[in-house]
Amino acid sequence: MSTHQGYDYLALLERAYSQLPKKVFERSRFEVPKVEIFVEGKRTIIQNFKDIAERLNRSPEHVLKFILRELATAGNIEGTRAVLKGVFSPQTLNTTIKRYVDLYVICPMCHRPDTKIIKEGKFLFLRCEACGAKAPVKPL
Ligand SMILES: [Zn+2]
Repeated sequence: MSTHQGYDYLALLERAYSQLPKKVFERSRFEVPKVEIFVEGKRTIIQNFKDIAERLNRSPEHVLKFILRELATAGNIEGTRAVLKGVFSPQTLNTTIKRYVDLYVICPMCHRPDTKIIKEGKFLFLRCEACGAKAPVKPL
């Protein structure tokens, strides 16, 4: 194959790419919700915790379990909020939630967030509703 043909192919690809509607890319971008917190004594309260779990389409219990393990602390859910023992910065909590999203929400194949955690036998899988991929996930 000549380099000329290779170039044509790239140009074609580039043109096809530029003609795709912008929306396709916007929809695939997923923003991890940010925490709204306040500190009360030696406890950190995540006010919008239930909202965050809902946006991630995960149970608040599952998200909290991960956070508690990552931060090596204790805590519980009170209504729509999560209460953690200890003082944590929003940055620390946002980074931890981002890690959760990378491990338990985002499809490793197509990088979309349209996934579900399913259990088969003793094993947990992340099943993607967008591309159909199924990837093993670590139990919490
Ligand atoms: Zn996928």
